[in-house]
Amino acid sequence: MLSTTITQILANSSLTVDEKVEKITGELHSYPDKGIAESIEFIMNTDDANAASYPANYLALLPNLQKEKRKVVENILDSKPYLMSAITNLVKQLPDDVIERLIDDYFKDSSSSDLYNVIFEAASFFPEKLHTHAPRIEHKYIKELILPGGPDSWVDDLVNEYLKNKSPEYLKQLAGLRTDKALDALLTLAPRVPEEDLAQLYAYIESSGVFPNTRLASVYFQSYRGYVVSRGESPHHMGGSFPHPVPKCLVTNTPANRILTLDVSQVDLEIESAYNPSFFWYESDYSPDCLYVRFTEDGLQGIATPMTDGEVGTGLIPGELALKLEAYPLKYGRGGSAVPGYSNHQVGGYPSLMRFERFPRCAVCGKGMRFLVSIDSGMTPFGRLGFDGILYGFWCDDCAVSCTYRQSDDFD
Ligand SMILES: [Zn+2]
Repeated sequence: MLSTTITQILANSSLTVDEKVEKITGELHSYPDKGIAESIEFIMNTDDANAASYPANYLALLPNLQKEKRKVVENILDSKPYLMSAITNLVKQLPDDVIERLIDDYFKDSSSSDLYNVIFEAASFFPEKLHTHAPRIEHKYIKELILPGGPDSWVDDLVNEYLKNKSPEYLKQLAGLRTDKALDALLTLAPRVPEEDLAQLYAYIESSGVFPNTRLASVYFQSYRGYVVSRGESPHHMGGSFPHPVPKCLVTNTPANRILTLDVSQVDLEIESAYNPSFFWYESDYSPDCLYVRFTEDGLQGIATPMTDGEVGTGLIPGELALKLEAYPLKYGRGGSAVPGYSNHQVGGYPSLMRFERFPRCAVCGKGMRFLVSIDSGMTPFGRLGFDGILYGFWCDDCAVSCTYRQSDDFD
């Protein structure tokens, strides 16, 4: 058997699954080629889907490598279909023709549970490729995933269903589409929605791209996905030091970590502020719902939070790192509810929320804040991120105020 590092770590029965993931990631990433050759060789030479998932998940953390990722997946499709579940996390990075092949295979045998995971990912990241297959899709959850960008006839059907029985479920599905037609339908239905469902309706409208009262944009339309990389590889810094005092916990004094600073000169987003938005977070038993800071000529001003003397936390981001961005043509965003822990980082576009909730209001001007970034939890090539759930960053460009907001499993 080849691939001694991965084989040895997997054979060590004293390690938990999480420890194996961390050890394999650390070892592979320390190689001059970042362990890419060993990862591919291992996947090509194993017949064990569980074992293959370790190097495949590692490859999914690395940006680019389109040729290598395609090679691994095509090899499995051609000769080892029983390994399909191992490449689930690579699906979002595959080229169109491979995705189309995966979808065709699924509809040849939609009972295969190995392919269920793969089609779930394809539906999440390439919803439009499944629209023509919609009548054949039986899984309720996959139906929800393929809503983004759906045809106008779906909007008409959902509006009619809603008017018939007033089930808020149809409003939620309309919120999944995010087309102009779906957004108009939500706005038009508002006067007919019962009082108790209005807050939820407004959350759906905000997630579809506008604030219901002002009709101003609630999102940025260009969208990028992010990969955690070393500091030198991208201008969008994560972790490490920060030149100003940062928020801290009122009770435990735990200093916040700089989660991300977005270098707006390097992205195509309509931000006019002279400041680069930064987002902060700390973990304590008293973690807030939202952390607001305002950028001023004198540095950072905390809003409803005490600030440190200059100390910055370092426990949540494993090193002085950065977020490499890749323009990503997911025009109508992802459908369904986000599941945290899969390193799906995003800048711009529609937020993929764990639960629909209204967007935060600016603590200075009171206007709705636009969704700008989301940083998922889970692994990076440098180790695990130290927080749970997903951090969502919102921005008021007029006031140069950022808000970091967290959703996690243990909320409800
Ligand atoms: Zn404001």
